Amino acid sequence: MAKAPVLTPRADDFPRWYQDLIAKAELADNGPVRGTMVIRPYGYGLWERMQQEMDARIKATGTQNAYFPLLIPESYLTREAEHVEGFAPELAVVTHAGGKQLEEPVVVRPTSETIVNEYFAKWIQSYRDLPLLINQWANVVRWELRPRLFLRTTEFLWQEGHTAHATYEEARDFAARVQSEVYGDFLREVLAMDFVSGRKTVRERFAGAVNTLTLESMMGDGKALQMVTSHELGQNFARAFHTQYVSKDGRQEHVWQTSWGSTTRMIGALVMTHGDDDGLRVPPRLAPVQAVVLAVKGDEDVLSAVRALGDRLTEAGVRVQVDDRTDVPFGRRAVDWELKGVPMRIEVGPRDLEHGTAVLVRRIPGSKEPVAAAALPALLPGALEDDQALLLAQSRRRREDRTVEVTTLEEAVEAASTGWARLPWAVLGPAGEARLNEQGLTVRCLVAADDSVPASEDEPGVVAVVGRAY
Ligand code: AMP
Repeated sequence: MAKAPVLTPRADDFPRWYQDLIAKAELADNGPVRGTMVIRPYGYGLWERMQQEMDARIKATGTQNAYFPLLIPESYLTREAEHVEGFAPELAVVTHAGGKQLEEPVVVRPTSETIVNEYFAKWIQSYRDLPLLINQWANVVRWELRPRLFLRTTEFLWQEGHTAHATYEEARDFAARVQSEVYGDFLREVLAMDFVSGRKTVRERFAGAVNTLTLESMMGDGKALQMVTSHELGQNFARAFHTQYVSKDGRQEHVWQTSWGSTTRMIGALVMTHGDDDGLRVPPRLAPVQAVVLAVKGDEDVLSAVRALGDRLTEAGVRVQVDDRTDVPFGRRAVDWELKGVPMRIEVGPRDLEHGTAVLVRRIPGSKEPVAAAALPALLPGALEDDQALLLAQSRRRREDRTVEVTTLEEAVEAASTGWARLPWAVLGPAGEARLNEQGLTVRCLVAADDSVPASEDEPGVVAVVGRAY
């Protein structure tokens, strides 16, 4: 008899599978206030690894970290007209504090362009103060109507970059640089996630931006997820907040700005991209634990062998955890590590000790084979890299297999039932986009004929990538 599945199979009910996995892999719980979440230690460990990898890439662009307040005067939000219109429905506003009604309500930040500009205006005097490149790691609140763990929560953790430049070109190039050198590199090299890089249509643009760049990935069910965004803000906020500098030739000029963000949504994306019916599969370069060494039984010899092997693997540069909880049945611990998606499981029992062997279970390709224990420190680093590459290849393959080139809106609707459609933007246009939206589809992004990011919507050969999205 086949054993009962630990998770709802993906093919039966993908959303249910997603929820099951998050609960059973101990990533997160729902919070008491609708849309909020409690991130559990294993889920937070994934976020910490994301932070480390992203932070290094952010700093490599010359950007420095800083911190701005959670509470923003409501009046700041209203200074940039499109920004307030876009964010008003999602704002949480504090009207009472300290037992009294506040004279001016304060909002819990949904994003920080306004308060950042208030201070940029003070800090920037001359062209010598530019570019100013700032990032913050923080939480933000957006009152989401259809929340879903990690993907769309009311409170989420993120990094938000905010920069000011002397010229339009410099700001445009910086937004593009972040898109490829920070976000694109991180998604591909660490998360092993394939993506399409493009620009948003006017309809999908960030409130207050003149251009939004996006990376869109295809999830396991063929739907799209907006992974990260990088915005050109033009001079919109600079004008609203008088963020000005004196140029080399002595003129007062407004700065040109960018902002860019990535969030805990990436944990949900990881689950929906690499997860399978047995649980999560964590890419080795991200994994907080790359290899777990399990004692099958509680005998002293096994325990000391397992600990010694753990030390040798650590010396070989592998992130290791020793599982010597022999009071918990072995089968249950094995299922647990499978659910959590630790890339390598090394099982050592009394019989293995006799033969100097161990059983190596590779979570990503799903293989299981006996190996010489002494060979593991030399073998594991290469095997981890191979499995990292396999995940990226699988993710790329899914998008390629499930993307269809079409020439009409009707064909695009048909194709989007299983994946994405690519349709000439000249055929679709804003009117066609509105019709797609009525059917629950969106233009995920626009790409150029050669798959690069188009300089404008009107460039010849621009293609719209259409899909259903989370
Ligand atoms: P934005 O500031 O609107 O450009 O958002 C930046 C990024 O945050 C987007 O690209 C999304 O990936 C992500 N994001 C937006 N809303 C949420 C949410 N409610 N929960 C988690 N991530 C979000």
